[in-house]
Amino acid sequence: MRKVKLKLKQGVINKLKIIGVVIVILLIAYGIYNKQITNLTELGYSREASKKILFHKEKEYIISIKENKTLNAALESDYYKEKYLKNYAKITYCEHANLVKNINKLLDKGYSNSDVSIILTHGDDSDVSEFAKRDRVKYLEEFYEYPYAKIKYYDRYVQYSYETGEDEKTTVLHIGLNMDKKEYDDAINIKRFSYMMLVNKYHYLSYDFIPIDLVEVPEDYRGSDAVLANSTALKSMIQLIEAANVEGLKPVIADCYRSHEDMVEIAEFYRKWYGDSYVDNYIAKPGYSEHQTGLAFDMASATVKTFSNSNEYKWMVDNAHKYGFIARFTKRGESLTGYRAEAGHFRYVGKEAAEYIYKNRITFEEYYVSFLDK
Ligand SMILES: [Zn+2]
Repeated sequence: MRKVKLKLKQGVINKLKIIGVVIVILLIAYGIYNKQITNLTELGYSREASKKILFHKEKEYIISIKENKTLNAALESDYYKEKYLKNYAKITYCEHANLVKNINKLLDKGYSNSDVSIILTHGDDSDVSEFAKRDRVKYLEEFYEYPYAKIKYYDRYVQYSYETGEDEKTTVLHIGLNMDKKEYDDAINIKRFSYMMLVNKYHYLSYDFIPIDLVEVPEDYRGSDAVLANSTALKSMIQLIEAANVEGLKPVIADCYRSHEDMVEIAEFYRKWYGDSYVDNYIAKPGYSEHQTGLAFDMASATVKTFSNSNEYKWMVDNAHKYGFIARFTKRGESLTGYRAEAGHFRYVGKEAAEYIYKNRITFEEYYVSFLDK
């Protein structure tokens, strides 16, 4: 009996030993597995993607390229295609809901990795999804050299450059400004007030648009006529005028806010006396004038009749940006603004934009295309 018991015990011990060894092996294997997963997550891959990489035949390749967001997204996605593994790794990542699906579609059409990157980085998810539906197109590199070029405008770029013979840079700029459309007739209606709003022959305001915070310009800062302005812009303009006063200069506000009705009257007046071409070159049509925003100031000198000859004008050209204003209609900008140079017209856009526009010697239109056209 004793011996049997011992034998039994010996059998149990052996089994336990085996189980123990197996557990230890499993623990070690799990430890190694976990360590490798951790190594991959430290490279920037998600746990889900890391698990796939671990058993991937191209594991060494993936590890060698280190962090790669596009590849990570692909590995996580149900649309992952094995044959595109190395393409994913070379395509720029974008936070798009249909990123992998669209990459596949574009690669299927024969686009190169750099073309796919161009398409992805120049549009949002829906723009790219739309674009991925169409047949493969040419000239991507030419138009999309400019960061602000948009994939949704591709057809307009091609058509415009073909019709006008303009270079790619000008084409991208003009389309961003809606300039392939008919001025006035096909203009875009701007509904929301903003200190950065663009109003011109291609971006208009409805007759009932009224800017926020209209206040009267105090008598000390204006010419003879009573005038309204947006209060934030006016506050900055008053600081500007006071700074100029310290220098012995006397700029004054000749005009600022004009209602739609005011614009109708002004246009009629000038048309009667000066004719259509004068009105087209110098006077904005009702709805197409940024004076309706309350952010545009026509300045004058209290001492010199022609503002462009005054020291006030010279000082303002060099200093207005410090107060958030830009000289809106310059000689250089005529082809983009659509208006002849106008010395007195200063527009409030805020300090950051004004500094940028001043330093880079660009128009507000160019700034709009680069930073504001979303
Ligand atoms: Zn003006």
